[in-house]
Amino acid sequence: MLEFLEEKLNAQYDKEIASKIFDGYKIKRKTTFRVNTIKSTVEEIENVLFCNNIKFERVLWSKEAFVLTDAEEKDIEKLDIYKDGKIYMQSLSSMLPPIILNPKKDCDILDMAAAPGGKTTQMAAISENKANITACEMHAIRAEKLKYNIEKQGANSVYIMIRDARRIDDFFRFDQILLDAPCSGSGTLNLNDANVDKFFTEKLINKSIAAQVSLLRKALTILKSGQEMVYSTCSILREENEDVLRKVMKEFKCEIIPIEFNGIDELPLLTTDIKGTICVCPTEYYEGFFVAKIKKY
Ligand code: SAM
Repeated sequence: MLEFLEEKLNAQYDKEIASKIFDGYKIKRKTTFRVNTIKSTVEEIENVLFCNNIKFERVLWSKEAFVLTDAEEKDIEKLDIYKDGKIYMQSLSSMLPPIILNPKKDCDILDMAAAPGGKTTQMAAISENKANITACEMHAIRAEKLKYNIEKQGANSVYIMIRDARRIDDFFRFDQILLDAPCSGSGTLNLNDANVDKFFTEKLINKSIAAQVSLLRKALTILKSGQEMVYSTCSILREENEDVLRKVMKEFKCEIIPIEFNGIDELPLLTTDIKGTICVCPTEYYEGFFVAKIKKY
């Protein structure tokens, strides 16, 4: 199954790493969530888990991230903390881009590809609901889910824009931008799904690349000079990550800002061919994910 992907990964990494990635595609990932600090605290959530005898682990790089040792999403969905939006079910890797962007209070922030809103609501929480966040989503049905999550999480600093982000007016300017781009999902594949080779195709990769290039071009156009943006995908393929960055960044005055944060050493990182960017390997704990921080001049 997916021989073409195996070939790509063998060429991009080496056989040993590619086989580790394929192991990551087969393993059942642990259930993880983020504490929504708009509505709750880490202490409150810890207490609820203790009282319900739900065991958890923590990560070094975020106080708000919880990894369930053996409980699953269905066990958590029964709890009031879930129903009340005090937590958000989110993969560990997908919590990284907002942490790396570090959205600031009183800033105009654009989340260019926002639904279902995991990262939008995380940015609202990090900025204590004090940033002006525009959450752009092209698909109306997905925008409904975004609206639901924003309301449930109490992220009242978010304005939803239902539009193809490639068509945002060039005269707009934002202080910070998150482009969590549509991608092939090559970091999150589940090889236990018999249909995986029906949706994961070369065509999907090429369609994703075309969208990523246009979206990044737009992001760098409407980012204010002197400010930073984050580009992320849940793909581990160089053609959707480093190659897209190289192609578009040469059209602008901008540079990669090396990603650094406390606890980064804990991440199972793959090599990337642009220094300062990170690519997370799919494992029992993490989805495959790529993140880059860019400063525009
Ligand atoms: N950031 C989201 C989160 O953390 O919950 C996940 C985003 S998902 C990777 C990409 C999203 O971008 C999808 O909801 C897709 O419908 C949307 N999208 C794709 N192309 C778009 C475009 N040109 N303009 C705006 N949204 C787009």
